Amino acid sequence: MHFSSLRPWLAPVAASLLLAGCQGQSATDSQTAATGQPAEAAPTDTASVPTPNDGITPALLARHIKVLASDEFEGRRPFTKGEEKATSYLASEFKKLGLKPGPGGSYFQAVPLVEIAGQPDPTATIAGNGKSLTLSYRTDYMFLTEREKPTVEIKNSPLVFAGYGVTAPEYKWDDYAGLDVKGKTVVVLINDPGNAGTDSTLFKGREMTYYGRWMYKYEEAARHGATGLIIIHDTKPASYPWTVVQSSNGGAKLHPQTPDHGAGKVALEGWMTLDAAKKLFEAAGQKYDDLYAAANKPGFRGKDLGLSLTTTLHNKITYKTSKNVVAVLPGTTRPQEYIIYSAHWDHLGIGPAVAGDSIYNGALDNASGCAGLLAIANGFVQAKEKPQRSIVFLAVTGEEQGLLGSDYYAQHPLYPLKNTVADINMDELLAFGPMRDVTITGYGQSDLDDYARTAAKEQNRYVIPYQHPETGSFYRSDHFSFAKVGVPALYASGAFESRLHGKAFAEKQREEFEAKNYHQPSDQFNPAWDLRGAAQDARFMFRIGQQLAAETTFPQWKAGSEFRAVRLKSRPQ
Ligand SMILES: [Zn+2]
Repeated sequence: MHFSSLRPWLAPVAASLLLAGCQGQSATDSQTAATGQPAEAAPTDTASVPTPNDGITPALLARHIKVLASDEFEGRRPFTKGEEKATSYLASEFKKLGLKPGPGGSYFQAVPLVEIAGQPDPTATIAGNGKSLTLSYRTDYMFLTEREKPTVEIKNSPLVFAGYGVTAPEYKWDDYAGLDVKGKTVVVLINDPGNAGTDSTLFKGREMTYYGRWMYKYEEAARHGATGLIIIHDTKPASYPWTVVQSSNGGAKLHPQTPDHGAGKVALEGWMTLDAAKKLFEAAGQKYDDLYAAANKPGFRGKDLGLSLTTTLHNKITYKTSKNVVAVLPGTTRPQEYIIYSAHWDHLGIGPAVAGDSIYNGALDNASGCAGLLAIANGFVQAKEKPQRSIVFLAVTGEEQGLLGSDYYAQHPLYPLKNTVADINMDELLAFGPMRDVTITGYGQSDLDDYARTAAKEQNRYVIPYQHPETGSFYRSDHFSFAKVGVPALYASGAFESRLHGKAFAEKQREEFEAKNYHQPSDQFNPAWDLRGAAQDARFMFRIGQQLAAETTFPQWKAGSEFRAVRLKSRPQ
């Protein structure tokens, strides 16, 4: 799972947890009993979880996780020996199952990346309107660029305030209406108009849309020909402090290589503090509060601020190539239609030692998802009825650095996107037993919800929307790269209610992983894990793939989804 200060499932802690004395990832009923708390009637309930003999088992998952998360794989960081080992292992396991390589006869897709280590000037100058203002790097702003050039100069670029920087036809909202931003630097608010919370009827209300993401804002500004875009950081709507903006946007960053070497991106991607923004608006003779209020009303019109920005970015550029792993089970009757299962193979590698351990093994994040790919592949291979559509297994690189491998695939698809029926993504399978729920992140976006409901029902599970949509979690794993290019994508897992121990237990397990193991060396394989929930989730996704493979129809994005328009362009209904 790609980093964010606020983890998607992290809910407020219940004041007193029923199983507060129960420690560890794999509490069994006997352990529960040992805490002196009343144990639930687990055994009969366990019997109600259907476990068909379909080759998708906790033991198989454990076997693969154990290998992929072993110290020998060195935390699977791209460009290391760990990458070689992990990608070779996955390819050879797919081969053993009898799956075919991708187009061109290779199990690998090269992913050319560029590392840009940026060092912006220590200051930036804002001038005009008879005023001059000097802002400081890190204290007031974080600037970077995706242009592959040693020096990127911003010289007297006029500043424009453009509300949220959003052009959203389906919400009849255009912050760029009537503005000419060519060569200018656009200053915008964080998040989207609904998510900001001033008016719950705008956009999707509390649930963040794609328009609230910084990535979208930079891309939209580039589409309008802007030189740069600066987001005003506000801790409350962002849900993380300025220090997170500092740490995520300083130093070296990896990006997919582009044929134009980043020329199609804005030259300057920036953030500034709310304090700095207030000073800037004051120099422009404007009040931040007034502009903020205006920007939250439909029909808002952006304006030139009568100021301009001057600063320089210095970059060290390094080109490197990583790889995605791809394997295919060709469809029997419609092999030219594809269902993709994705999971990222990469993790953080070797880093600062914690309690004497410097290998960030990434067992749940995301050796578990890769094990899920292999288990689902095994399921398809064992099944009597072969899929009519082709099933593609895609283990992608660079997720931890910003969904790089999946993004590269989406921009350079090995199979036509318009014939790609769906992407089903796995990131961090469960290690604390079977669940009653299937929590869908991005619920309501596409028809895949209906397929999920059918598959969940087979397992006596219920479907619920992800409970904290305001955090924008739909945009934080690899399925999003597919959604962006219009392929319906599903990201779902048990999260909310343990079948054996209830809701508070599930929350506590999630929270403990979050606090103690997430992106830590301690995210390592534990033989005591209960991987029945992981197997259940993998089977749930396998069954969805089987449903999709047996049909001739294509699931659609629902009306109102921000991904519908791009799909309709390539695949009109
Ligand atoms: Zn992660």
